[in-house]
Amino acid sequence: MKCLLCQSPFENSLNFSSVFFLSASEEVVCLTCFSNFQAISENHCPTCYKNNVKGQCQDCLHWQSQGQKVNHRALFSYNQAMKDYFSSYKFQGDYLLRKVFAKSIKKALKSYRDYTLVPIPLSCSSLSSRGFNQVKAFLDEAKLPYRDLLGKNDAVKQSSKTRQERLASQQFFYIRANEELPAKVVLVDDIYTTGATIQLASQLLHENGVKTVISFSLAR
Ligand SMILES: [Zn+2]
Ligand SMILES: [Zn+2]
Repeated sequence: MKCLLCQSPFENSLNFSSVFFLSASEEVVCLTCFSNFQAISENHCPTCYKNNVKGQCQDCLHWQSQGQKVNHRALFSYNQAMKDYFSSYKFQGDYLLRKVFAKSIKKALKSYRDYTLVPIPLSCSSLSSRGFNQVKAFLDEAKLPYRDLLGKNDAVKQSSKTRQERLASQQFFYIRANEELPAKVVLVDDIYTTGATIQLASQLLHENGVKTVISFSLAR
C-alpha cells in the first residue's frame, strides 16, 4: 500500500502505535505522515477549540462583544502539515485526499445525532474550478448524511468595491431549500480561521428559524 501523502510504500502491520493510527487514518497514509498532523490538545479555547490558549481566544471575545455566540469544535491544529495537505487537496484538486480524515470526521460527528449536518458551500465559480466541494467530499467519504441547505454567491472582487462595502461584512450565503429547515444544525467546514464564515452562515440560519446552530471543522 502506498501513502497518499508521501507516496512511499508502507506496511499495514498492527504494532504498538497503530491503534490510533489505523482508526484515525483509515490506512491511507503512513504513520510518519499522519504523525505530522497535530491533534488539538486539552488546552484549547472552550468555545472554538483554538489550540494552546488559556480561556477564550481573541476571536471568540470579539464575537462575544458583537453579541454573537461561538460553539465550535475542531480536531486538528492548522499547522504546516495541515496547510500542505489542504494545498494539495483543495488547490491542486487531489480528490483522493478526502480519504485521509474520513474516519476522524465520522467518529467526531457521530455524536451529534439529533443535529442536521450542513456543509459550508462553495460559490459556483470555486466549485467549477475545483471540481468538488471539499467538505461534502469528506462527508460523502465518511458516509454521513447531510443537507445541502446553503448556497454561496460569487464574491465581488475587493478592488471593485467601495471602502464602505469592503468594511461591511456582507451576507454571501443564501438558503437553497424551500422545505422547512431543521431545528438544530451543525455547520461543517474544513478550516476555521476567525469564525467569520461560520458567523454569517449561522446568522442566516437563525433568521430563517433554525433554533440551534453549532459548528465543526477539521482544522482550527
Ligand atoms: Zn507518508
Ligand atoms: Zn476561541
